[in-house]
Amino acid sequence: MKKMKQTRKKVLGLILTSVLLFALAACGGEEEDAAGDSEGNPDKPLQVVTSFTIIEDIAKEIGGDNVEVHNLVPTGTDPHEYEPLPEDIKKASDADILFYNGMNLEGGSNGWFMKMIDSVNQDEDKVFSLTDRVEPMYVGKDQEGVEEEVNPHTFIDPVVGIYMAEDMRDALIEIDPDNTEEYSERAEAYLEVLKEIDKKYEEKINEIPEEKRILVTSEQAFQYMTNRYGLEEAYIWAVDTEENGTPQQITSLVDYLKENDVRTLFVESNVDTRPMETVSNETGIPIYEKPIYSDEIGEKGSEADTYVKYLEYNIEVISDGLRE
Ligand SMILES: [Zn+2]
Repeated sequence: MKKMKQTRKKVLGLILTSVLLFALAACGGEEEDAAGDSEGNPDKPLQVVTSFTIIEDIAKEIGGDNVEVHNLVPTGTDPHEYEPLPEDIKKASDADILFYNGMNLEGGSNGWFMKMIDSVNQDEDKVFSLTDRVEPMYVGKDQEGVEEEVNPHTFIDPVVGIYMAEDMRDALIEIDPDNTEEYSERAEAYLEVLKEIDKKYEEKINEIPEEKRILVTSEQAFQYMTNRYGLEEAYIWAVDTEENGTPQQITSLVDYLKENDVRTLFVESNVDTRPMETVSNETGIPIYEKPIYSDEIGEKGSEADTYVKYLEYNIEVISDGLRE
């Protein structure tokens, strides 16, 4: 309801703006016409806002010097729950185009991202989710007292990365058609790299002996990837926003590990390591020496500081860890 009203108000605002612009153009002569609309202005890069680090990186890859990217949730901060800063709100309000993951990563329709979009009265046609083509999977099914919800961690699966890159290219072209060729060329090169990574995941996972294809992590974040490439998954908690590492959750994983032959546990870069340490102490199964990445790319200069490196790093760590 609220949205409808805002949209109507916006349409009225747009009509008024158009009338004004028309009046200005009428007096301004030919120069204004040649410059076209503000989004096509060749001197000013397209103002892009992204919800978290993985989308920020893809936007920089495909947008290149045609865009200026402001990212909201930085590395080290949880994208499931975030409090936008005054600067974020200003950038979101001024943006030509905004990208978010969707699938509840940013808290869903009542989450922080959508609330921010509403609060700045941003035009919904400029806001793009990058998971429209992903079939949702659900977490929390087997856990007592946890409500089943959409698993937001689609981007851990490199095939979803391909969808994201393609959808972002199309969105950039829709909003900034003057630079179609640049966006298409950069996307093509980038997509080739992602397609190679998809092949690598398939090969590396097929090399792991079948009985060892069990990925144990803290959060059930790896579901899309494990499902695509034929790994089984086990975890302590379903999603970061619920209680993490309760005695009950730990016992349930320990019981699973007693019945399955698992040699390595993994910990994600962005979680509290203590619950998995408890699991490790209780089962005698070691935690792999390197963390794996889920909700973020690494700090600048680290081994996983781009999305491509993040994907490549994860498959190396997983395949080395599981073959031990
Ligand atoms: Zn997460």
